[in-house]
Amino acid sequence: MIKVVKFGGSSLADATQFQKVKQIVSADDARRFVVVSAAGRRHKDDNKITDLLYLCHAHLKYSVNCDPIFQMIEERFLAIKNDLKLSYPIEKDLSYLKSALRKSIPLDYLVSRGEYLTAKLMAEYLGYTFLDAKDFIYFSYDGQIDFVKTKEMMDHHLSAHDHFVIPGFYGAMPDGQVRIMARGGSDITGAIAAKVVDADVYENWTDVSGILMADPRIVDNPKRIDKITYSELRELSYMGANVLHEDAIFPVKEKNIPINIRNTNEPENPGTLIMEYDNDTETCASPITGIAGSKDFTVVAIYKNHMSNEVGIVRRALEVFERYQISIEHIPSGIDSFSIVVNSADIKDKIYDIVAQVKENCRPDKVKVISDIALIATVGRHMSSRPGISGQLFAELGKNDINIRMIAQGSDEINIIVGVENKDFEKTTKVIYNRFVEA
Ligand code: ASP
Repeated sequence: MIKVVKFGGSSLADATQFQKVKQIVSADDARRFVVVSAAGRRHKDDNKITDLLYLCHAHLKYSVNCDPIFQMIEERFLAIKNDLKLSYPIEKDLSYLKSALRKSIPLDYLVSRGEYLTAKLMAEYLGYTFLDAKDFIYFSYDGQIDFVKTKEMMDHHLSAHDHFVIPGFYGAMPDGQVRIMARGGSDITGAIAAKVVDADVYENWTDVSGILMADPRIVDNPKRIDKITYSELRELSYMGANVLHEDAIFPVKEKNIPINIRNTNEPENPGTLIMEYDNDTETCASPITGIAGSKDFTVVAIYKNHMSNEVGIVRRALEVFERYQISIEHIPSGIDSFSIVVNSADIKDKIYDIVAQVKENCRPDKVKVISDIALIATVGRHMSSRPGISGQLFAELGKNDINIRMIAQGSDEINIIVGVENKDFEKTTKVIYNRFVEA
């Protein structure tokens, strides 16, 4: 049994959190690959090391002294080292970094030091081999992971050692230069490691006990999701549920390696298990797995009589959005109308030009722009086998005086998306939750 375990920033924020990590790792010898983020916030007003590193870089860019910020970084690392009585000479790395700041230092290299130094300390603390991500994770020049080389490198390291601590969030370009991933990228590092070592499970340790069925800022004490498929998670994350970096799903999904979201502060909680459930015949109390959504979408509705007989009108409208590099969320359609739903932030400065060009390209009878729309996705793999769920959902929203402005459903029938006015966003989420989960 091989487990890749990734710990997020809050699980590494100070010596106490390091101790919890050690307890978790040493409780199971299968936990042989430990991927770490950079030390995160100790409390809500604290700073993440990664943010401080970005801030140092911004100061340097504008020739402002960054010593006070760098000092905060030094103090954080030294406190962990001293509290745990470690001997790794981190002072040397920090002073090297400080002098490098006076010259020009690449952003990617600087920012990756958060993970690098956290991993150095953790490797000593656990007694595991430190494996630098730049000697393991390789990008191709197009920015994609070079899985062939990455696997080769891992096999090479495995011929000499078997328990590793790996810094997350970065890898190396073909020329050896450090390149960082998107924010939250340590999740991706964990997924890559899980894929190349053929892990039995990828445990992602964070500060929540799994994925919740709805946003706890909206619904009081929402239930935890025990089991979810990759596709359901993708739908929920895309719509705003924010637990795991979405790019962390693809590497493990291919091999159906389960991802287990766990809480470092509550290790006995089984968390959420993400995997493909082929024979998922279990009868669930609720047909839905979760609800997620976000505000601030714009609907551009295009009306034209006899549109259904006109070939190419949708393409001509979409061409305009493509020209402005705007990605489309949904295209709900009627017989003589269709709507294009986009993120308001993307279209805000271009809306007048876009409408003018749609009018020119499509010669519609009317174009209507509806902004301040929130989209809420109700997601569940069990919905497709139970008729009537969407009817119940729409009826419930109607009963609660919520006006549905748009409806969309993916072809695999695992989601129902409704568009409502921004002001109804929270209410809609609560109504759906109460109808399908608490009922
Ligand atoms: N430290 C990086 C960040 O804050 C990457 C990570 O934590 O996954 O985004």
